[in-house]
Amino acid sequence: MTEDKNIRRPEPRPERMAALAALPVFFKLAEKPCIVAGGTPGAAWKAELLAAAGAQVRVFAAEPCAELAALAGDGVITVFPRAWRADDLSGAALAIADCADEGEARDFRDAARKNGVPVNIVDRPAFCDFQFGAIVNRSPLVIGISTDGAAPVFGQAMRAKIEAVLPHGFQRWAQAARDWRAAVQALHLDFRARRNFWERFTRLALDAPARAPTLEDRETLLAGARGAGDAKKGSVALVGAGPGDPELLTLKAVRLLQSADVVLHDDLVSPVIVEMARREADRIAVGKRGYKPSCTQEEISGLLVELARAGKKVVRLKGGDPMIFGRAGEEISAVRDAGFEVTVVPGVTAASGAAAALNISLTHRDHARRLQFITAHARDGKLPVDLDWHALADRAATSVVYMGVKTLPLLVARLLAEGLDPATPAAMVERATREDERVLYAAISELPGVVEAAKPRGPCLVVIGMVVGEGK
Ligand code: SAH
Repeated sequence: MTEDKNIRRPEPRPERMAALAALPVFFKLAEKPCIVAGGTPGAAWKAELLAAAGAQVRVFAAEPCAELAALAGDGVITVFPRAWRADDLSGAALAIADCADEGEARDFRDAARKNGVPVNIVDRPAFCDFQFGAIVNRSPLVIGISTDGAAPVFGQAMRAKIEAVLPHGFQRWAQAARDWRAAVQALHLDFRARRNFWERFTRLALDAPARAPTLEDRETLLAGARGAGDAKKGSVALVGAGPGDPELLTLKAVRLLQSADVVLHDDLVSPVIVEMARREADRIAVGKRGYKPSCTQEEISGLLVELARAGKKVVRLKGGDPMIFGRAGEEISAVRDAGFEVTVVPGVTAASGAAAALNISLTHRDHARRLQFITAHARDGKLPVDLDWHALADRAATSVVYMGVKTLPLLVARLLAEGLDPATPAAMVERATREDERVLYAAISELPGVVEAAKPRGPCLVVIGMVVGEGK
């Protein structure tokens, strides 16, 4: 086939929006008349929703339920004790009905259409011009969620998820944005400076959702936008990633991950958790796994300082809780000595994950007066010589051993020599809270052999004490 040079080939199309089941729009209803027909609790709920959006709500109900009666008379919702009529719909911004049957639904829809009013009929999607989604309300920040009627319960679950991660304080920041807009406009900044103001505003809101925005914030941001502000200041947060299950992250950890410029993470942190960081964030693995050579602690601390100096928001993501066997002390001093602030976000430590895996209370009152977390890995990789052996041999103690696989035979030999009963229940928990978690039980004297045979490859904790017997 010959190609006709005169035919212009179509330009490759820019990527289009994927198909939308429904268009999310946000209706302004303040002071506008809206109609609700029906006397049911469902109708009452819709009337309340419209009133919350500032509408003048007129409800037509021959037999208003108690909920409706209670809503009436506040000046916003008026209940007319009669059935609706077609001419009630004229001039309404929206019309909603809870209809007894399909015939009424059709009549109501037709009347609304005739009057050019968008209509919704409760639980009858076929007659609806629009649907109500689930709402997350931080007004003026409003999030609507729709599954286009496909899965309302799933939609509700999404709402709960978003509710949980969206701090309530964002409401105040969104309100401040509205209040400050005029002041920013009055500066007649160019596009870039204006954008810079709102970017820095947003960063501040993401960093400090719990506190109210202040006039001082406004002045600092405005000064910055005028070009008088400081260069972007870096910061470091040590964030606990928990033992593995991503659902064990704190809300704060998720929030910081989602606003980080850089994430420095250990090998121990699950990839799914690292993936939860902001899409644009750089991710740097600084693993110090077991006995393999990798970044030294000095290198990691140095990198933290260097990134903070470059104005980055750094999240140092650590397995478990950062303050437990996490060498947080060194990192905190390095960063603070360099003049930067450090925030610490606690995490679920591996011992708590292991207790959950074993289904035991680490401090069961029938068995334990003391709970001790020890490391069985000294600086030189050997069993530490200065452990409190007497405390570890205490029958009324629960001991959780971090980093204890390699030195387990030595540890156990020493504990038995210090008088620990060889029959003391013990367990090893590998990859606690992860999908491939594994638990091995044995009397303490047998545990080294059992662990050796099992050849664990993931991180392991050893739990020793009478409480372990409760779990089996
Ligand atoms: N800061 C971490 C501990 C870091 S030390 C915390 O609070 O959990 C690393 C050791 O923690 C590992 O050698 C192992 O003993 C233990 N560990 C970490 N995650 C674990 C997991 N999911 N299951 C079992 N042990 C774990």
